[in-house]
Amino acid sequence: MNETVTRLADVDTSARYHAAVLSSERITPPESNDEVRELVLSIDLPDFRFHVGQSIGVVAPGSPEFGKADHIRLYSVADLPHHLDDGTVRIKICVRRCSYVDSYSGEEYPGVASNYLCDRKVGDVITITDPIGVPFRIPENHDAHLILIGTGTGIAPFRAFVKHIYRTTPDWRGRILLFYGANSGLELLYMNEEIDDFAQYYDRETFEAFQALSPRPNWADPIAWDHAIGQRGDEIWKLMGQPGTHVYLAGLEKMRPELDRVFAALAGSEESWERRRAELAAGGRWVELLY
Ligand SMILES: Cc1cc2nc3c(=O)[nH]c(=O)nc-3n(C[C@H](O)[C@H](O)[C@H](O)COP(=O)(O)OP(=O)(O)OC[C@H]3O[C@@H](n4cnc5c(N)ncnc54)[C@H](O)[C@@H]3O)c2cc1C
Repeated sequence: MNETVTRLADVDTSARYHAAVLSSERITPPESNDEVRELVLSIDLPDFRFHVGQSIGVVAPGSPEFGKADHIRLYSVADLPHHLDDGTVRIKICVRRCSYVDSYSGEEYPGVASNYLCDRKVGDVITITDPIGVPFRIPENHDAHLILIGTGTGIAPFRAFVKHIYRTTPDWRGRILLFYGANSGLELLYMNEEIDDFAQYYDRETFEAFQALSPRPNWADPIAWDHAIGQRGDEIWKLMGQPGTHVYLAGLEKMRPELDRVFAALAGSEESWERRRAELAAGGRWVELLY
């Protein structure tokens, strides 16, 4: 099973590398309240290796009032590794500008690293760490079915994974079902009216993509997973019972309890769902990249 990085302190982040910002592009539409940017970084180190499903650590400089301690945050690799003839390596990451609200004062503070990254300009040099996390592996059985479920920036590793599968495994025969949840169509990344990176796979018999949007985008209502997944409930439940099926989750932690509810309904009870998930996890077929 892909282990979620639960404590950064347990991971070796001592190696530091310089990465130059080659481009920084907003990928949410201007009318969206959400700012998500895609950054392309260049590392002048031909041996820098990373894999789909891994994340790199970005070191955001600390501020003097907090003792200048650096802050490390993880960002998933959003595209396949790109090694150029000039010896440089390119990494794409997808960053959502975050803020958090102090529960006591009610004041809103900008998130340290995401704002640092979103404010970088072309030519700026940032510091990164070694890639972290267990890569998403293509199952050896090319008839295996894959169910990919992502929210927000969680779509980024799936974009790289789907590309990786179709590029490197021409005899891939398993079905790939991608479910992508967001509060509104304006927050969908890589699968909206302007940019649809998945369109290139729509004519493949094995690939299907489904959107799950919140019924009331401006409210705190959860994403309508029950609609998107529940509608295909019988089919998904059958797929999950097949020995080769792998399930991947990527995005915000809060999607996990929402999905548990939907799957428990498909399973008939929480206990049956827990059993099925444990079977998948025991076989390394339940993979989470949650944050
Ligand atoms: C394995 C892993 C992979 C990750 N991959 C990505 C990625 O590809 N893209 C990305 O943008 N972030 C990703 N993150 C989250 C990222 O590491 C930071 O936590 C995030 O950018 C906030 O950091 P900050 O320093 O700006 O905010 P902080 O000053 O640490 O404040 C954090 C606040 O932002 C909220 N928050 C954190 N991440 C998100 C998010 N993505 N959307 C909404 N609210 C959030 C937190 O709940 C909290 O309220 C990943 C995290 C992990 C553990």
